[in-house]
Amino acid sequence: MSEQYSFQTKLLHNSHKFDEGTGAVSVPIQHASTFHQKDFDRFGSYDYSRSGNPTREALETAIAELEGGTRGFAFSSGMAAISTAFLLLSKGDHILITEDVYGGTYRMVTTVLNRFGIDHTFVDMTNLHEVASNIKENTKLIYMETPSNPLLKVTDIKGIVKLAKANNCLTFVDNTFLTPALQRPLDLGVDLVLHSATKFLSGHSDVLAGLAVTKDKELGDRLYALQNSFGAVLGVQDAWLVLRGLKTLHVRLEQSSKSAQVLAEFLQQHELVEKVYYPGLSDHEGHVVHSYQSTGPGAVLSFELKDEEAVRKFVNHVKIPVFAVSLGAVESILSYPAKMSHAAMPREERYKRGITDGLLRLSVGLESVEDLIADFEEAFKAVESPVSL
Ligand SMILES: *Cc1c(COP(=O)(O)O)cnc(C)c1O
Repeated sequence: MSEQYSFQTKLLHNSHKFDEGTGAVSVPIQHASTFHQKDFDRFGSYDYSRSGNPTREALETAIAELEGGTRGFAFSSGMAAISTAFLLLSKGDHILITEDVYGGTYRMVTTVLNRFGIDHTFVDMTNLHEVASNIKENTKLIYMETPSNPLLKVTDIKGIVKLAKANNCLTFVDNTFLTPALQRPLDLGVDLVLHSATKFLSGHSDVLAGLAVTKDKELGDRLYALQNSFGAVLGVQDAWLVLRGLKTLHVRLEQSSKSAQVLAEFLQQHELVEKVYYPGLSDHEGHVVHSYQSTGPGAVLSFELKDEEAVRKFVNHVKIPVFAVSLGAVESILSYPAKMSHAAMPREERYKRGITDGLLRLSVGLESVEDLIADFEEAFKAVESPVSL
């Protein structure tokens, strides 16, 4: 129905524009855990809410449409979606996974899957030769995240898909940083797209949710069976919150990306900033690949100050962004990977990956970019000051 519309319009005018029964223009929240069956021999569309619920299903079809897939699945968190998707694998299988993968995924692969006989190798996913040379006979999955966290490294999705198809491997992309507004991995041949909908998709730092989308029918059927078996489904209030957030996804990301570009350029010319990581900068290593496979650089960037002391002063003096883990919200969020997302990683490992004690990650929100720059200018003055303020 909505195929002819642009992404922006589809966010609003889709199969959930209004409720068929009542005309309600907001998806009704269906709390029921079970459903009366009118016919002894033929059950209705819903029987039990773990297996299917109309509110959750509205979100599941919405994300499937937006990602260009055929089937969507909503989970209680991004990690629930990712962990359930890993259950497509079996004992004896091997995974190739990007070395700068999200911390929770790193933990799942290295401390849980390994105990079930599922092996892994971390690779620099931006290096196709390295990926190719690490594919083993039992490699069944190549797991990507692009741009990656926190250094925004860009993986050539099509290049990896080609390698995977030649070797009978599945491909997953964690698309949290860009969302289908800016990148649609299924169109590039990827088998399964994953999201922490906690971030940009919902966008307001007020819900935990995860999503998965498939295109292939058989893979969709298998993932459905796993969702129903494992049972980490999204609650209906939370499904509604994600649906509500989705309506403004386009304007939020457009505005935040614009500001992120301005901020990245501001930071790049600042003398106290040693390096800026943002795919929208022409000297970013992945800039060209990124511009082929995505329609924008997104709203997350990282930048490096001299050392931990400089970071401490900066964070203590900056007023607008919240200092917190997470990203993808209406308010700007500043995080310190060394003490937050990568705190568990030994310093040496961290440094090998370029995550220094001077690195800060910024998820740009909807504040005026002039206000953000003025705020940063003030905080930089404190960094420069010889006395500890
Ligand atoms: C936050 C995040 C996750 C995990 O999602 P939760 O909703 O916190 O479980 C996975 N991948 C990426 C890239 C994330 O940023």
